[in-house]
Amino acid sequence: DTTRDRANYSLEDMDRNSLFHPLTPIALHQQNGPKIMAAAQGVRLRDHAGREMLDCSGGLWCVNIGYGRPEIAAAASKAILDLNYWHLFGSSSNEMTIRLADRVLNLLHDHAGARHLKRVFFGTSGSDANDTNYKLVRYYANLRGVPEKRKIISRKGGYHGLTAAAATLTGIEAYHTAWSLPSTDVIHAECPHQYRFGLPGESEAAYCDRLIADIEQIIAREGPETIGAFIAEPIMGTGGVLIPPAGYFERVQKLLDQHDILLIADEVITGFGRTGEWFGSGLFGLKPDLLTLAKGLTSAYFPVSASVVSERIWKVLEAASPEHGPVMHGFTYSGHPVGAAIAMANLDIMESEGMVANSAEVGAYLLENLKARIGDHPYVGDVRGRGLMIGVEFMADRETRKPFAASQNAHRLVANQAVEHGLMVRALPFLEVVAFSPPLCITKSDCDEAVDRFAQALDATT
Ligand code: PLP
Repeated sequence: DTTRDRANYSLEDMDRNSLFHPLTPIALHQQNGPKIMAAAQGVRLRDHAGREMLDCSGGLWCVNIGYGRPEIAAAASKAILDLNYWHLFGSSSNEMTIRLADRVLNLLHDHAGARHLKRVFFGTSGSDANDTNYKLVRYYANLRGVPEKRKIISRKGGYHGLTAAAATLTGIEAYHTAWSLPSTDVIHAECPHQYRFGLPGESEAAYCDRLIADIEQIIAREGPETIGAFIAEPIMGTGGVLIPPAGYFERVQKLLDQHDILLIADEVITGFGRTGEWFGSGLFGLKPDLLTLAKGLTSAYFPVSASVVSERIWKVLEAASPEHGPVMHGFTYSGHPVGAAIAMANLDIMESEGMVANSAEVGAYLLENLKARIGDHPYVGDVRGRGLMIGVEFMADRETRKPFAASQNAHRLVANQAVEHGLMVRALPFLEVVAFSPPLCITKSDCDEAVDRFAQALDATT
């Protein structure tokens, strides 16, 4: 590749010729080149060309405390100089990771009423944490002498990551095409989103009945003795900010209890204040046996994830230990001391600056203002959300609820236009939804600016 040697080799060309971006079409990327971000502070981004943007994406729903916090830099620097690495293999441990595990459990006990959650295993991504949970469902079944009880019910539209097992859990076709993913042990139930999938004239209660009947049918068809777990995001994120109908989770939980099926709550997005509550499990009164955390745990200042294990699973692991020996699972970077120190500093900021309460208050303000400003637009079907997790769903015809064809890329055009107007929002891959998930430190006046820019972008697109 001769362009590599050119003196005026641009950063854009270097990207084109060196980096693999698997989440955009290759030909398109070669043609358009990368969008390079250069700097960020608070809720403001600046790209390589010097353009300023208000960030209503929070990166990938993850920069909860906002960008550029010196306290995090100081904590990282101290942690690196104190002990830049030690692992958790064998009985090895390190102070920051011990303190973080204790703190995560306390937060879950205090803010999600989840006193049954007992141990924390750390990883580095939401995907690997869900792979851990996937493995633990099977391990738990094997230890209990019911190895066939290992299938997992996930949901269409659910997003659980893209490592091999996590990708099988993910219920969005686009991530499966041509990958020949290995597992046949995952079944996808219906997506709980009445606005799009409810029948005309169907009440919320009748819609909920239909969703529960679907899960019941899956359990009956497969046999409850083969179903190990049900995995759900309390509010689906990548699926389109989808809030289930009233009563859904209570009834799911009942079904799971009845058939001795574990609940995995994937709180990678909903954890740490995104919905205006500390955890989505608290919001819906869930009692998960496994809980997945990532993103907001460090506000993406360091890659750290967690699988939190309930007492009932822990007891089985503990009891089997003398016979089976170690569980034999872990990664080089599990319990990384620098990541743990950053997570602790991040949680300090979240607590001392009241970010969860801000998410609830400013989120409600942003939602109301979006509804007021663009809710009647002919191509806006639905505006919904909880806290600072908000989705705007587009429709080709809002009266008949006729969606745009995927090839029209309607919501992508709006999101691209928003960037031109100085606003970063994300177009999602399952439905025609643009998501707002700004840092939780966003102010009401920032939101006014965001709504203005989004309305302008919408006008410029249509
Ligand atoms: N689970 C949920 C709910 C997510 O939203 C994501 C990422 O967006 C993941 C899992 C995967 O996390 P990661 O991208 O860190 O592997």
